[in-house]
Amino acid sequence: MKYADIIVDITSERLDRTFQYRIPDSLEGKLQVGMVVSVPFGKGNREIDGYVIGITDTPQFDENRLKCIHSIKSDEKTTESSLIVLAEWMRERYGSTMIQALKTVFPVKEKVRQCSQDTLVLNITKEEAKIQLKELEGKKYHARARLLRELIERGCLDKTQAAKDLGASASVVNAMRQAGWIQVLSREVYRDPLRTDGSSSSSRSYVLTGEQQEVLAGILEEWKQENPRPCLIQGVTGSGKTEVYMELIAHVLSQGRQAIVLIPEIALTYQTVMRFYGRFKDKLSVLHSRLSAGERYDQFCRAKKGEIQIMVGPRSALFTPFPNLGLIVIDEEHENTYKSEITPRYHARETAEKRAQMEHAYLVLGSATPSLEAYSRAEEGKYARFRLRQRYGGRPLPGVTIIDLRKELKEGNRSILSRRLQQAMQERLEKREQVMLFLNRRGYAGFLSCRSCGEVLQCPHCDVSLAVHKGGKLICHYCGYETEVVKKCPSCGSPYIGAFKAGTQQIQDIVQKCFPKSRILRMDYDTTRKKESHAQILEAFARQEADILIGTQMIVKGHDFPHVTLVGVLAADLSLHSGDYRSAERTFQLLTQAVGRAGRGSSPGEAVIQTYQPEHYSIQAAARQDYDSFYEEEMGYRRLLGYPPASHMMAVLGSCREETLLAQGMEYLKKFVQRVYGKPDLHLIGPAPQTVGKVKDQYRKVLYLKHPREEVLIYVKDKLEQYIEINSGFRSILIQFDIQ
Ligand code: ADP
Ligand code: ZN
Ligand code: ZN
Repeated sequence: MKYADIIVDITSERLDRTFQYRIPDSLEGKLQVGMVVSVPFGKGNREIDGYVIGITDTPQFDENRLKCIHSIKSDEKTTESSLIVLAEWMRERYGSTMIQALKTVFPVKEKVRQCSQDTLVLNITKEEAKIQLKELEGKKYHARARLLRELIERGCLDKTQAAKDLGASASVVNAMRQAGWIQVLSREVYRDPLRTDGSSSSSRSYVLTGEQQEVLAGILEEWKQENPRPCLIQGVTGSGKTEVYMELIAHVLSQGRQAIVLIPEIALTYQTVMRFYGRFKDKLSVLHSRLSAGERYDQFCRAKKGEIQIMVGPRSALFTPFPNLGLIVIDEEHENTYKSEITPRYHARETAEKRAQMEHAYLVLGSATPSLEAYSRAEEGKYARFRLRQRYGGRPLPGVTIIDLRKELKEGNRSILSRRLQQAMQERLEKREQVMLFLNRRGYAGFLSCRSCGEVLQCPHCDVSLAVHKGGKLICHYCGYETEVVKKCPSCGSPYIGAFKAGTQQIQDIVQKCFPKSRILRMDYDTTRKKESHAQILEAFARQEADILIGTQMIVKGHDFPHVTLVGVLAADLSLHSGDYRSAERTFQLLTQAVGRAGRGSSPGEAVIQTYQPEHYSIQAAARQDYDSFYEEEMGYRRLLGYPPASHMMAVLGSCREETLLAQGMEYLKKFVQRVYGKPDLHLIGPAPQTVGKVKDQYRKVLYLKHPREEVLIYVKDKLEQYIEINSGFRSILIQFDIQ
């Protein structure tokens, strides 16, 4: 006898509630996860529909009390059933409970709607508004003036937010509405969440360039195959990948199918989203990362009802329940925001591949710097690869100069700005062109490096940089190797050895001192905590309200600033030594993207990369924008050390309030793994402290498993899951799995 776990309502909180039913002999073997069945429910045994989310051999309750499934409703696949199957796959692949996986796939309807969803927009032109503003200021109508000023600046405002931030009370809003200056739109009407200025979304459609045309034709050709492969577009920055995506989307729409476009983060790819909107207008909806679960649910409903055909959004948009999905596009495919950091820790690329395969949709990935995973699949012929080698309009890629910071020090310059960079900045400022300065702090763990010779202290076992910890220790985040902080460089004996500390704020001060008349904008975690501050800073810079933009990796993505002719990378080494096997790949990507920001307008661009390790292949290759040679070098290293994608790796993450309990637990897991899979081809590394060793009073440790075959890791994961479940010692330790 077999038993089925069934949920009866996918859209509500009841998602958590599963009910077990007996499977009658007549249905055994036929019934599958995802199917819609008819079951008796409640006291009166009402017939209702349910979804099968799991099938087991053992009943959870007394067998005689279980009711029996009546029938399978339809063999036909619904969108829900394929999403349930997808959730089941995610559960299995990434390690989570079925409910966690289902909640990732189906947003839950909220009982209470958020109070105000009204948006204030200007009802007159900005010119008219400016005239009114003068009058208001004259009459000392402060609240009205504040509101109007903000609206002139931003085009629209959330009503609740305006009340809170600007003191725009209901009477202020009403007065302005009666005067005909503003309109109040409810969320239902206001379906263009990104429009800040109606004029910016003109409907343009370009003629593709020859190269773009070739890529388009190639992809359409691939789509004619019986089993079309995922297509990877490798196009240099500014080559027009977005134009190609839009043609592909139009093609799919003309077949009556729908499309999902994944982007790394809306705030940072604002311009790209506006281009999609400009072309497809209200066929398209945008999923913010800041939407509540309920709002996401509403957006999904519209997709299901056929009110929209295209969904643009971050990784969660992947689960949009389109009835006839035709295409999934993943832009900037290499970005690490596509990897979820909460259980199930799915990767959007892999999950998209699975969904596309199940629903016979196409998958298109694009990047100037593909992830090693995607590129190696293309090399193996699992993906079809297409290239865009030229920037649109024949604009040359910027010239790149690499500056050796060791030499600067030797020649007496102890500033963070090399002489070459200072001089280049001076020239641009005189010509009234713009400059971007970039501090690639991503994953910054605090490594020790020698400013005289460039030596960085590495783990002797793992070939990654050691991280500086409080209390004067250097620790490897893979194997846990520990050593004392040194005072002198072990390689050259120089005393100039230490952690690189400068932050964006400090750099702003230095630059301001150096160029007192320059106008500087800064974009980092501190300056972008407020909603919409990303867009405000970027727009201000685009309007040339500043000469220099200083920022972290936030500033390097997808923006077109035609007046930027110089990009300075302050210390390329920062991301190179993040203590992670992907650090060279990230550095190459960040540098290539950063360099690609310069010279997108009519004047040619230039980039200056400062570094203590000018000979490093990721820096050399990024300077030449040479993906292929970077790929060769990096894959060689991954093969040698057994890191993905050359091999497979799984992290077992543990967190607990008690340090000793955690340490013991992790050791037990290690021993258990050795017992269930004792062959030497499985490499066990750690347990080691995680990159951040303690968060909110929880200690965190990690155990790494490496094996050439992924099935082995999944087998071990399943065994570990069972072991943890039955072992009461693990009740106070949270264990999570992360397949890399
Ligand atoms: P990528 O996404 O590859 O970095 P984009 O799609 O952003 O490149 O294109 C870079 C710039 O070139 C954009 O401003 C875009 O509007 C313009 N562009 C690209 N292709 C065309 C085309 N065929 N006709 C007109 N403009 C184009
Ligand atoms: Zn040294
Ligand atoms: Zn190590």
